[in-house]
Amino acid sequence: MSKSQQTPQSPSFDKSLFASDNNPSNIMPAKLTADSILKFRCHPGVSCFTNCCGNINIILTPYDILRLRRPLNLSAEEFLLRFTTPVYLEKTDLPGVKIHLDENGRCPFVTEEGCTIYPYRPTTCRYYPVGMSYFHAAGNEGSPAEEFYFLVKEPYCKGHEEPKEQTVREWRVEQGIDESDEMNREWMEIVMRRKSFGLQATLSELAQKMFFMASTDLDKFRDFVFSSSFLDTYDIDAETLAKIKTDDIALMKFSCKYLASSIFGTKDLTIKEEKVKARVEQNKSTQGEAEKQAMETYEELRRDRDLLKQQIEGQKKTDKKS
Ligand code: SF4
Ligand code: SF4
Repeated sequence: MSKSQQTPQSPSFDKSLFASDNNPSNIMPAKLTADSILKFRCHPGVSCFTNCCGNINIILTPYDILRLRRPLNLSAEEFLLRFTTPVYLEKTDLPGVKIHLDENGRCPFVTEEGCTIYPYRPTTCRYYPVGMSYFHAAGNEGSPAEEFYFLVKEPYCKGHEEPKEQTVREWRVEQGIDESDEMNREWMEIVMRRKSFGLQATLSELAQKMFFMASTDLDKFRDFVFSSSFLDTYDIDAETLAKIKTDDIALMKFSCKYLASSIFGTKDLTIKEEKVKARVEQNKSTQGEAEKQAMETYEELRRDRDLLKQQIEGQKKTDKKS
């Protein structure tokens, strides 16, 4: 399933973070609004059923990962190891993950009967065949971006031949896109903001690792917050702390504040006064203790992941032989 999502400002839209750039000719040259009519229906009766669930790039947002892990009953680490591959988010220096396709290039969640995780499917799967983008008229970059949609029409997709018509707005409700967008909003803003910097801007390796950890493994991020010197560095109120200890959604939103503050220097989090003074006095390097701890945590995660990958590969070889 080719997938589409938001893009940053551009004189003309480019394709999205989630869309594959393989077939730009399949994007219809028409700007749609929420009230535009969409003639499309996907259901198990179409001859192409599940054809789109292969040879695809499905980037996962932090919320996608959280939502998928629950029915699978997997820790973040297990989920990442079994079902994802690290990848740079389109046109950025930010590392994230995409769904790891099987040896036939198919999504691991698809069967002949369809998507086995349908109620929990990622945002990109929900959007297809609609993409969303933002538009800034040239020379008008200071004004609010205009939001619009476009249609991806791939020749093999028979859903476009179905008679059902509805507005894009109705389509969004039907697919549960509003909820996904709301949950993804802060994270997408960080990615889009970074994307607008262009590829010439390069985050430090440490900052990339922090972004990766906070975006993909909230279990590790929670450990980082509560078991490193993070709380010695940042001033976090008691109510927030109590919430993020147990509430994954609150933690996910908090992680975006942390990322925005550490990548762009926003005021979303406050560094403790004494830390600021100590830093100035000691003329410390920018690498604080919390970040060092995060680096160690990340390295540990990577080692574990490599190990499990080897084990899975070994298991596959054994299965093939037997
Ligand atoms: S998650 Fe489901 S809908 Fe998305 S590509 Fe995989 S099988 Fe298809
Ligand atoms: S109609 Fe389109 S979206 Fe639905 S299964 Fe076929 S190719 Fe995929």
